[in-house]
Amino acid sequence: MEEISPLIKVLIDNKQKILDSKKYNEVEFDEFIYSLMQAENERQKVLKKIEELGSIDIQKLKDILKISEHRLIYDIEYLKELGLLEFIGEISEFYQSIEEKNEKEGLFPNVSIIRDKKICSGCGLCVSICPTNAINFLNDVLNINDDLCINCGLCYACCHRSFFPRELKDNQEKLDTDIKYLKEFNNYREIYSAQTKDNITKEIAQDWEIVTTLLKIAFKENIIDAAILIGTTEKPNEPLPFLIQNEEDLFKKARIVYNNANLLKILQNSKRFKKVAVVGTPCIMEALKKISIYPLNKPFYDNIALKIGSFCMNHSLFGCFFCDDLTAELSDISIGSIGSERGWSTVIARTSRGANLFQQALDLKLIEKKIIEEDSKNFNTLSKIAKSKLKMYKEIPRQKMIEQDPKVRRNNFLEVPKGYTLEMVKLETQRCLQCGIPLCIEGCPVNVDIPKFIRLLRQEKFSEAINNVKTYNLLPAICGRVCPQEIQCEQACLLGSVSNPIAIGNLERFIADWDRKSQVKACPDCQAPKNIKVAIIGAGPAGLTCAGELLMRGYDVTIFEAFHTGGGVLVYGIPEFRLPKEIVREEIETLKMMGSKIEYNKIIGKIMTIEDLKSMGFKAFFIGVGAGLPTFIKVSGLSLNGVLTANEFLTRANLMKAYKFPEYDTPIKIGKIVTVLGGGNVAMDSARVALRLGAERVIVVYRRSEKEMPARRAEYHHAIEEGIEFQFLTNPVSFIGDENENVKQMEVIKMRLGELDDSGRRRPIPIEGSEYKIDTDTIIIAIGTKANPILTNSIPELKLNKWGYIETDEHGKTSLEDIYAGGDIVTGSATVISAMGAGKRAAIEIDYYLTKKKD
Ligand code: FAD
Repeated sequence: MEEISPLIKVLIDNKQKILDSKKYNEVEFDEFIYSLMQAENERQKVLKKIEELGSIDIQKLKDILKISEHRLIYDIEYLKELGLLEFIGEISEFYQSIEEKNEKEGLFPNVSIIRDKKICSGCGLCVSICPTNAINFLNDVLNINDDLCINCGLCYACCHRSFFPRELKDNQEKLDTDIKYLKEFNNYREIYSAQTKDNITKEIAQDWEIVTTLLKIAFKENIIDAAILIGTTEKPNEPLPFLIQNEEDLFKKARIVYNNANLLKILQNSKRFKKVAVVGTPCIMEALKKISIYPLNKPFYDNIALKIGSFCMNHSLFGCFFCDDLTAELSDISIGSIGSERGWSTVIARTSRGANLFQQALDLKLIEKKIIEEDSKNFNTLSKIAKSKLKMYKEIPRQKMIEQDPKVRRNNFLEVPKGYTLEMVKLETQRCLQCGIPLCIEGCPVNVDIPKFIRLLRQEKFSEAINNVKTYNLLPAICGRVCPQEIQCEQACLLGSVSNPIAIGNLERFIADWDRKSQVKACPDCQAPKNIKVAIIGAGPAGLTCAGELLMRGYDVTIFEAFHTGGGVLVYGIPEFRLPKEIVREEIETLKMMGSKIEYNKIIGKIMTIEDLKSMGFKAFFIGVGAGLPTFIKVSGLSLNGVLTANEFLTRANLMKAYKFPEYDTPIKIGKIVTVLGGGNVAMDSARVALRLGAERVIVVYRRSEKEMPARRAEYHHAIEEGIEFQFLTNPVSFIGDENENVKQMEVIKMRLGELDDSGRRRPIPIEGSEYKIDTDTIIIAIGTKANPILTNSIPELKLNKWGYIETDEHGKTSLEDIYAGGDIVTGSATVISAMGAGKRAAIEIDYYLTKKKD
């Protein structure tokens, strides 16, 4: 080998650290390095030949290099992963899809996927391969100790999520007449429900009883002389591998919790055996194969005598959805729990090797079986799940919402996306994996049971679906439209790591709109009245949610709202084309149906105080007054005509319906060139409203780069489609007026990004001498808001933080016993759903406080 590979170098450089971890002694370490060098040598030869041929011709490469197709494919995949085949346009398939999500760093550009909770299946292979014991699982989450990590990339190399070479389908006897074929299962001979009749096995092996019985026979009949199992230990995320050497060993190891197994050593040891069984999900088998070739260079797979595949639904993250387990062509026999009654396992005999072994177990009366007929209920369950797996990321793409044409919509205030059709809902719901441990629920701040409502939608049980959603979220039509799902439930969706996540927001919107249009609107059940009065101050998402939750618990709820209408930012901030006001009004109607009273035009702190409310009999208070005070920028020319805050601009446009002037009597002056300062949702909304009000050019000026913009990506793209211009890394220096004090220009300076600041984003730094001027006749300042002190000033004992926001614990409890708070007035400007989550948590705490007080 002319050049030492980066992996070998990093291992040699960190030899002492590796020896300190005690996974290897010095001799083993040297052997390992030697084996790696051989593997590297082989790959260099493959690379050289590909360079000479100018393409990947498997047949030619096999003939010239005299290596098996398996090895060749893995070598090629490995070269692709390192980007060494880019010169012929070959890039790892998995890489491309994951590329955007990960920083390119380290030896293996995407080694950071190992840290991605969403991608991790919890198989534990990386824990066992890590040469320095830097990886562990804590509370079911994989952690990497950066002090121990030597960035060798071995964890990445063994991760079965790092690539999926689907072309390796080799062990089928396709010409055999016994073979059946169904698209969802691939090739198989027979499908059974099976149960062991061997009591000792049953007791010791528990869930693994069929596997253990088959292995026992395989040892007895000399079919195998060793087995590698990736079994589950007591902790779901530590299913580390182990090597079994004989029948006695099989029973001995059946219940041991394996920690700190050394995968490489296990694979190296397995080389001593001639006939090895491998047991695990097919993706794990693939991972073992990959490791055995890279980095071990041990043709481990050449001595495999039996492959027992497992398809389980237990931990959901473990293999089930990403490899073709149920649909495998890789196993001789597949075993799992789906499709059989409790206490029985489903067995799919695929090859003659697998079928013969199963027959031997039957002949020896160690197993009893029932055939699962093709028209039976069990068969249907199996095929349904197998089908949905195939569909989820192979056949059905994420359904794209139909939208108004940008050229048309830039001139109107009608909603931009038009919603899903029933047909789209049918397709989209089929993509849902119905995970056993649904991460999407965790990702939702109000914990909507997302898989359940999607399941109900899939079954077209619309009224049950909306009832289910409304138990958790009383504002689904709003959340379906404006929630940043991409950083919440959809970001957590497991499907997102191999394909596009389920369009949860779009489905929520569909079911909420169906409810709005239906005759009988869903209204959650409320407990019997408790006759205890609770006051909610502010009818934004936080207040409305808190009110709903308290109504369900039987409280007598009154909402006090400063404006003449409810909804908070939902009506005066977010424009009609993103969230029609009618929808907000209708969702507030549900609260009224549940018994809520709403008092409009009541500014608490001015017209009335909390003390007044106490004297009216209110026993607890929730403050959800938002953070509506505009923030100004320190530049000269702020008082020029044509300089507005986004609050003023959007409130006039939205709440006072200035866009319908003269039908409504609030005029709004908009110039020809409008400049908007900021990069958040408020800036996007202001820019798009300005365009619709007749501006000829709208320019958004943002001091950081596109990457740091906090606006929802979808809204940013909508803005671009509509023709909004963006000037990134640009900051205002002064506003320049004409002789009549009307703004005519904005002087700006170019910025560069420096070190990270407190917000975790890179700090913008002015570039001296880069000033220039932008012609403009309207400037809208959309750089954030802060707490409005009207209410808080009237409660001097209430503890605030240094910015004037109310201090609470995680349940929304303030420094005063009967006062709770949530939403933007606690967190500063955030999101609709986070405000709703806070309202919900506070309601639960208020209920606890009032019940406790009563007791
Ligand atoms: P608010 O919505 O501000 O409601 C507070 C309510 O309290 C108001 O109705 C107000 O009139 C009332 N009030 C205030 N003081 C008093 C008083 N003294 N007495 C009585 N009533 C009072 N979030 C998203 O998730 N997605 C988006 O796309 C999005 N876009 C946005 C666009 C704009 C233009 C803006 C401004 C915000 C956007 N947000 C978005 C943020 C989101 O709207 C807020 O985080 C959320 O509305 C906060 O809810 P809240 O209930 O805490 O406060």
